[in-house]
Amino acid sequence: MSISNLLPVFMIVFLLPSSVAARNYSQMYSTSELQRANKVYSSNIRGMLFQDIARYLNNDELVTLRRVRLWQPWDRTTDPFEFSANVVNNVILIPTFSVKFLDDLSIAIAWFERFGCNKESVFDYVAALDFSDIDLPAPLTALKISYQAYRLDNYVDDVSQKTLKSALAFILLHELGHMHFHHKSYNVISPEQAQIQEVEADRFAMKLLRRMRLPPLGMTLWFMAVSMRDPLVSGSPRQKYPLTSNRLQAIARDLRTSPADFIEPANRGKVSSNMICSLANDIDEIGTSLSSSDMRSFLRERGRLVTPAMLGGACEAEKHDQEWLRRFRNIIK
Ligand SMILES: [Zn+2]
Repeated sequence: MSISNLLPVFMIVFLLPSSVAARNYSQMYSTSELQRANKVYSSNIRGMLFQDIARYLNNDELVTLRRVRLWQPWDRTTDPFEFSANVVNNVILIPTFSVKFLDDLSIAIAWFERFGCNKESVFDYVAALDFSDIDLPAPLTALKISYQAYRLDNYVDDVSQKTLKSALAFILLHELGHMHFHHKSYNVISPEQAQIQEVEADRFAMKLLRRMRLPPLGMTLWFMAVSMRDPLVSGSPRQKYPLTSNRLQAIARDLRTSPADFIEPANRGKVSSNMICSLANDIDEIGTSLSSSDMRSFLRERGRLVTPAMLGGACEAEKHDQEWLRRFRNIIK
């Protein structure tokens, strides 16, 4: 997943102010879809945390896990990236809506990869959530990908599941890290202290992924998606806990240190140290784009300008590129 192919049209300076209006997500999936998804996800996620992950925790960490209550509401649609830990009441919040949304993004990326489509459209979609006024349906509907995509193609099924699973493992471990270190609520600490807590929770998650020998294949998608939301724009839902390039650089460094640790010996044929290092490069690249205000404006502008037809036409590669070039040309005029 590279963002370097966005660079050719990136030397444009944007003067347009962008406003961020809170989006209402309650209509994105139907009640029955969310309830059905809740049944499937909640037992899987419970098993992932209290069985799969628990097996790898030391005594201290198990003490932390024992006080965790997992809250997986089906009807909470505040924000598609809402995963959090409340250290005061020991609750880790994993809304089904956020998991379903991440599942959709995982399927979209795998599908686009498989069929050589414009993967950037997935991130244009995410940027559009915050910066566009258009009415956006759920990711797979907007990107015109079948809800049966995972059934239609083995590669899509396999890759999307691995992406989702490893992204969720990272998220659960990161939240467990906040609990383990008794981190403070963001309401009572400075942004600098919040950043230190984030890095510490990441380090905890990476340590455990290493112990579990779980290659963090879904991390690029997760960080790429989260990074599309500009924390510097006033009113942005993630303004309080911005993703920073420091945080990403620390993760990339961690991945490059004995990358083979992340691979089960039996899987060495399928996953290589080179793949882990290339994940580190992708994550570094996201960090670089986060620290460039031009790049951020560019990605925000794409989110603001993208149309339903462009999102839905991501698989018509050439037409798609021409449409972006035409639009940016119109802006400079
Ligand atoms: Zn955190």
